[in-house]
Amino acid sequence: MILKKTAGITLSITVAVIVLSVMFWLLGEKEAVFEKNDSFWAKEMMPANAALNKNIDVDVAIIGGGYTGLSSAYHLMKYNPGLHVVVLEAKQVGSGASGRHGGMVLPQPPTESFEIAFDDNLHKKTYELTTRNMKSMKSMCEESGVECDLKLNGFVHTIIDEEDIPYYKEYVKDANDMGIPLEFWNADQTEDKLGTDRYSASVFDPNGGSVHAVKLINALKIVAEKAGAVIYENSQVNDISEGETIVLKVGDDNHEVKARDIVLATNAFTSKLGYFTYSMIPVHAQTAVTEPLTEEQLANIGWDSRLPFYDSKNYLFHMVLRDDNRIVIGGGDADYYFRGDLKYKGDIQKIHELTLNELVTVYPGLKGIRLEYIWDGLLGMTSDEIPKVGVTGKHKNIYYGLAYNGQGVNMSYMFGDVIASVYSGKTHGWEDTPYYGTHSGIQGFIPPEPYRWIGSKTLMEYYKRQDRQIDR
Ligand SMILES: Cc1cc2nc3c(=O)[nH]c(=O)nc-3n(C[C@H](O)[C@H](O)[C@H](O)COP(=O)(O)OP(=O)(O)OC[C@H]3O[C@@H](n4cnc5c(N)ncnc54)[C@H](O)[C@@H]3O)c2cc1C
Repeated sequence: MILKKTAGITLSITVAVIVLSVMFWLLGEKEAVFEKNDSFWAKEMMPANAALNKNIDVDVAIIGGGYTGLSSAYHLMKYNPGLHVVVLEAKQVGSGASGRHGGMVLPQPPTESFEIAFDDNLHKKTYELTTRNMKSMKSMCEESGVECDLKLNGFVHTIIDEEDIPYYKEYVKDANDMGIPLEFWNADQTEDKLGTDRYSASVFDPNGGSVHAVKLINALKIVAEKAGAVIYENSQVNDISEGETIVLKVGDDNHEVKARDIVLATNAFTSKLGYFTYSMIPVHAQTAVTEPLTEEQLANIGWDSRLPFYDSKNYLFHMVLRDDNRIVIGGGDADYYFRGDLKYKGDIQKIHELTLNELVTVYPGLKGIRLEYIWDGLLGMTSDEIPKVGVTGKHKNIYYGLAYNGQGVNMSYMFGDVIASVYSGKTHGWEDTPYYGTHSGIQGFIPPEPYRWIGSKTLMEYYKRQDRQIDR
């Protein structure tokens, strides 16, 4: 009898463990995958450095070799010569969003959708800090000797829906009152500059521009190494044990890296390491590059200003006309996969058609043009759309800069500087903004699966419906 009872309890526990394991597997996060960067930019990637092959003790270990990680390394070394800093990159530096983006460099006033945009002083301050940052990015490129194709002659935010015009006029007026040099352009002025009558109006910002994604990575790699940082590639961090000294397990052989401080520079991948799990999700987005335009096509489309631009939809399109006369075009769709799957599973042919369709809608003279490259990348998205930088952990030794919500080329470079400044006891200016904090990782709470997937899909469908109404 007793035996039977024990067997019953054992069976119940076994079933419960199996059910919980299956639920955890079904509803927990998918593990990290690191896909090869096959973008147009990737042709310029430098040869990879050696992987970590021994245990090491360092002052600061930076996880992730995108702009946030490399900029943190460069600035940490600049402010603290002699510091022992390593960057641990799972694949090659620039394998993440930093080597796959749409090429636009944007200042970041808290955008119109952010509540804090209504705080004038803050808006002006963030605008000034981010425009100053672009200039320091330019100096860094010069210091590296790499021609980053960095152009800072402005960009245009185009407005599709006529009904939005009063709002944007007011926005420009407010910005001008604060000393932010935006210009409102009506439909004719917009057509004059961009060569298309697709838009009802636009806002020109003289600060901002475009860059070659991977050349900027190369520049950062060169200056960070020259300053003394050591970069290990093909060195995935598998585990983080917190403490006064943090212990990382790295690579297939789980080599130990002991560090006094670490930097999470892993953006969309961060939740796979167990951080920001309930405040950030990885979202897939795509970008494409056309074949070079002929002289005839160029004359035909009349994009004489060559200013980069993005439109006013939720699923916006962005375009850059490069010096080699190729157009970089991205946007129009984005997706979140169940359990935060990082592997691209979308229909690239559908994205291809969507992209070409928009290109020809904006520039009918490009009918028949070919897209030579199209690729997927990962954005780190939050529900409050606010990028986050700061320091966390019981021992206040885990720095982070992440969640750029698809607008992070300039910001990620700057957050590297903010992290290094805070580490070094230097004032940056960004510390007094709501972007900086000791985030607990649950601000803008995003619920676990399956609610996360259902919520994301519902919201995305709602945004798409709004966009379809604009198109009508
Ligand atoms: C398709 C697309 C288009 C975009 N277009 C623009 C644009 O035009 N303008 C703009 O401003 N922004 C754009 N963005 C956003 C911008 O690219 C990103 O915000 C920015 O590059 C983020 O940089 P990062 O260094 O924080 O992250 P990433 O560049 O993603 O770098 C994170 C790195 O961490 C590594 N990593 C992750 N986990 C681990 C681990 N466990 N161990 C070791 N290494 C790890 C990854 O391999 C990766 O290299 C775009 C993004 C995408 C995807």
